[in-house]
Amino acid sequence: MSLKEADILQALDAVKLPDGSSLATSGRMSGIAITDGKVICAITIEAKDAGIMEPVRAAAEARIRALPGVKQALVGLTADKAPAGTAPPRPAAAAPRATTRPAALPGVKHIVAVASGKGGVGKSTTSCNLALGFAALGLKVGILDADIYGPSQPRLFGLRGKPRQIGPRMLEPLERYGVKVMSIGFLVDEDAAMIWRGPMVISAITQMLREVAWGELDVLVVDLPPGTGDAQLTMAQQTPLSGAVIVSTPQDLALIDARRGIAMFQKVDVPLFGVIENMSSFCCPNCGHISPIFGHGGARAEAERHNVPFLGEVPLDMNIRATSDEGRPIVATEPDSPHAQIYKGIAATVWAALDTGASVRAAPRIVIE
Ligand code: ADP
Repeated sequence: MSLKEADILQALDAVKLPDGSSLATSGRMSGIAITDGKVICAITIEAKDAGIMEPVRAAAEARIRALPGVKQALVGLTADKAPAGTAPPRPAAAAPRATTRPAALPGVKHIVAVASGKGGVGKSTTSCNLALGFAALGLKVGILDADIYGPSQPRLFGLRGKPRQIGPRMLEPLERYGVKVMSIGFLVDEDAAMIWRGPMVISAITQMLREVAWGELDVLVVDLPPGTGDAQLTMAQQTPLSGAVIVSTPQDLALIDARRGIAMFQKVDVPLFGVIENMSSFCCPNCGHISPIFGHGGARAEAERHNVPFLGEVPLDMNIRATSDEGRPIVATEPDSPHAQIYKGIAATVWAALDTGASVRAAPRIVIE
């Protein structure tokens, strides 16, 4: 039997809102997506009702999961109802400042976020190779692909399987090259457009963080969605991060966004391990000539300006791109190559800081508008 939206709504008829009415007919259900027995949808709420609506969300998820033919169910709360038509989502209100640290993830020693001010700078490629760099140090490593708008870790790791469900709620991460991997890309098709709005993104990512059987890990790398909007800020607040790394290309436009990234983590008191300059220069494979296509050294200067460590330069290299696209990341498949050594060096620097707590300090506060 192939599942239809009507089947989902029928199942939700028995789920009651706090006022006793049916969730199915409340007009609150949106974004119902059904692929291969995986159901993802959202309940629209008022932001202030997040607490009282959580049991409704959990009940809805349990009902959907119990339907014949459903393998996985993910129900999020969204407080930002988009208007009909194609109007862009309105910007969400500024995230409230966290007053308490988010709860630690049992068994996971450190969580390191990899962020970028904008897309396309190589954040996912860097996250993948950084995670493999940690693994090369003999550490137990996981990677959470929180880039929900464009999950690329399945492709980068060459993974296509589906996570196995353990018990009523937990998912088992997939594993490749000694790294445990979880991505929304395992649950929905890579090219399925993710049109989720801020609060729903946060809800989905929190679930992927907390309802995955990571086991014992030394480091969990989190590949954040690009940008410095409200969703990213809230994630930085709600994830028990040991610290963050920012990836930027060297040109001025990217650096403006990187600066916003630095400010974002400082705003929520998440320590910054440093900035990585990606696509730093291009070495011609034919003649060996080095061209600074996007300029060179901009990220280092930016890091110094803000008193944040500079972690290293990764060149623009055909082999990095090719191995990434083929699901054979360079640190795993060409571990002795010069580029793999760069990623491994960065991983060693970050681990030294994590292990000794040396840079787990709040960077000096700056205000950038
Ligand atoms: P983001 O996560 O920031 O959107 P990706 O990691 O997906 O960026 O990288 C975007 C594209 O750039 C991909 O095709 C990737 O293979 C390529 N890329 C990333 N870093 C490098 C690099 N250092 N050299 C060559 N290509 C790179």
